[in-house]
Amino acid sequence: MITVRVPAKVNVQLGVGGLRADGFHDLANVFFAVGLFDEVTATPGEGVTLSCTGPDAASVPLDDTNLAARAARLLAAHHGLGDPGVHLHIAKAIPVAGGMAGGSADGAAALVACDALWGLDTPFDTLLELAAELGSDVPFALLGGVALGRGRGEILDALPVAGTFHWVFAVADGGLSTPAVFRECDRLREEAGTGSSAADVPTPDADPALLAALASGDPVALAAALTNDLQAAALALRPSLADTLAAGTEAGAIGALVSGSGPTCAFLAKDADAATAIAAALTASGTCRAAHATHGPVRGAEVSAPRP
Ligand code: ATP
Repeated sequence: MITVRVPAKVNVQLGVGGLRADGFHDLANVFFAVGLFDEVTATPGEGVTLSCTGPDAASVPLDDTNLAARAARLLAAHHGLGDPGVHLHIAKAIPVAGGMAGGSADGAAALVACDALWGLDTPFDTLLELAAELGSDVPFALLGGVALGRGRGEILDALPVAGTFHWVFAVADGGLSTPAVFRECDRLREEAGTGSSAADVPTPDADPALLAALASGDPVALAAALTNDLQAAALALRPSLADTLAAGTEAGAIGALVSGSGPTCAFLAKDADAATAIAAALTASGTCRAAHATHGPVRGAEVSAPRP
């Protein structure tokens, strides 16, 4: 039995370029791995089977569309294993369709878990390539830490970070579809008259002030540099998120933004005690389903030590 722990991400910068001819957007995407984890446990089985527990388990598909199952099959095919045998159990703490790349995290965890269970010793660079085939956010879940993603987000460069930052995540009831949020972003750009195509919108780039804030470990500077070009679209689709953002800011957060495509909201705190207080205030505010205080950056998908 192999258990792999894998973190969620928040985008501390999500710059969205115009719509490309292939249907994707160019992104300047600074991924930040935070201490909210799914665990994927692989045990020998017949075929690829799945189970899932956790508050959002009912929304997780248990068929071949699950990214963990797709990862197991892709790894098996890469090594020419005709008939992969594995049962994958997902202990899910990352909100589903929450803008924290939980499905991608499970795909990355399944690659690492099956690699260990089947004794394949696949080089890390190959795992990264397989991860990129599964989806734009999957390679980062393998890498962890903080990284700049370019292209669709799948071309990654690790970024230097000093120290630890303290975060609070406010989980909403129900998810938001990532493609729907990108479509709304395009629609809002058309409505504003700026145009939404790759010819209309400049290709985004990483913000030097944000990179300096990460490198210096200064939470106030990072808070000032947080940006998410999908936030207006997420708020248009879920106006109640404005109340969540306001509640966290009133409770003392030094920075607040929608995480990725939402609806999870992310708050930066000045220290661990402030994060605990902000999480308690958000829970009491009734503007979210749950609030979790945590920290980051944390490491990417890795095999957990067996429990005693
Ligand atoms: P992202 O931030 O990468 O856009 P997200 O966090 O908003 O993603 P996910 O939780 O990754 O959203 O799930 C999006 C959809 O993917 C779900 O609604 C579900 O149908 C499907 N899915 C496939 N595999 C998984 C998985 N292992 N866990 C959760 N959802 C999965």
